[in-house]
Amino acid sequence: MTEPLDPILRYVDEQRARFVDELVTWCRIPSISSSEAHAADMRRSAEHLRERLSRLGATSTAVIDTRLHPAVYAEWIVDPKKPTLLVYGHHDVQPSEPLSEWRSPPFEPAVRDGRLWGRGVVDDKGQVYIHVNAVEAFVRTKGAPPINVKMIVEGEEEIGSVNLDGLLRSHADRLQADFVVVSDTAMFGRGIPSLCVGLRGIAYFDVTVHALSMDAHSGSFGGGIANPANALARMIASLHDESGRITVPGFYDRVRELTAAERAEIASLPFDEREWLASVGGHAAVGERGYSTLERIWTRPTLDVNGLDSGWQGEGSKTIIPARAKAKLSCRLVPDQDPTEIAALVEKHLVAIAPPGCRVEVRYLHGGRPYLAPTEHPVYEIAKRAFSRAFGARTVFIREGGSIPFVRTIADRTGKPCLLMGFGQPDENAHAPNEWLDLENYHLGIKSAVYLYDELSRA
Ligand SMILES: [Zn+2]
Repeated sequence: MTEPLDPILRYVDEQRARFVDELVTWCRIPSISSSEAHAADMRRSAEHLRERLSRLGATSTAVIDTRLHPAVYAEWIVDPKKPTLLVYGHHDVQPSEPLSEWRSPPFEPAVRDGRLWGRGVVDDKGQVYIHVNAVEAFVRTKGAPPINVKMIVEGEEEIGSVNLDGLLRSHADRLQADFVVVSDTAMFGRGIPSLCVGLRGIAYFDVTVHALSMDAHSGSFGGGIANPANALARMIASLHDESGRITVPGFYDRVRELTAAERAEIASLPFDEREWLASVGGHAAVGERGYSTLERIWTRPTLDVNGLDSGWQGEGSKTIIPARAKAKLSCRLVPDQDPTEIAALVEKHLVAIAPPGCRVEVRYLHGGRPYLAPTEHPVYEIAKRAFSRAFGARTVFIREGGSIPFVRTIADRTGKPCLLMGFGQPDENAHAPNEWLDLENYHLGIKSAVYLYDELSRA
């Protein structure tokens, strides 16, 4: 351990309780971005943070207005020759309903069993304060952080970061940095420092098979005309082969195969498949042959039915040939698949396999690109080392099966390596009642940030 960090780490230990109190105070503000009624709270939350940051010797702070809810910006420019780290977080939170399911009120954060319970404690106010406290530790013991630090804390993450792209564009100069760190994800499990290095993208479709202008009598017409429900069922069934691969021509053309090292890293994770299945009442893990469950959900593309609708769904029987059949389909995409390209391939294929008497209409509803971190960049080794020093355990690379649109936005806008260094737990109830923050993680998270800033200053 490097000597010079000792006073800083000691400061983090000494301030442990106060750092929790500060977080509690901020989390009392119900900054719910999805509700008009909380617009004033959103502003109060932003002002509260800006105020705290300006007391920590930031060289500049600002509340930045967007069309909806304000973001907060602060910077500590210590030396233009030193590297600059941009920290991203968000200060808006999810709604707290249903209130009756909370064991303590969502906006009166309470400590129980080594955890802080309340809305926003981990998603994402606690993770923002991990960085704020790390900066404080440097400022109070050394006068300033060892690198240039910039923070952008938006207020619209929970409603899809609707103005983030514009914000990053209109403040591009100010937000220049060498590295970006995003602390808004979860660790693989307790005590396992994890860097998320991959996210799946998405392409979403609305599919309609048209056959008749009206529902027809199944006795008078059945067997003599096309049934769009039968047709759609056959079409959907044909979209996967026996080995679980998707049959759309060209679908896998851009899929990056995993390297032996990536497969070994994933295989090394303590994944409890039974627990994962049990979390949704599942009975068996199934999917594309030749891949483990984690490989399937993190690194392989999918094509899934999200909804199906046709014909009579009411009580009892009704003997009809439905006029049309509909499905909602979506693909989870992996590097380097492109949603618009996949949309074109899927549409072309569905139209091509429509049986006689049926016309297929495909509407592409929305898409998002997958993300793969440039892990060969030296900053990933630095981050691994920093994270491991704080937690005393090996840092693992994980991925996420879902999409986090703002990560792509930031990665694309800044063009810099984006470290997803999250301090949440997989079961912390983010977005659900009884959200909690592991206070040991909060404490070690602050130390991780201290180590990260220090390591980056010597990079
Ligand atoms: Zn979040």
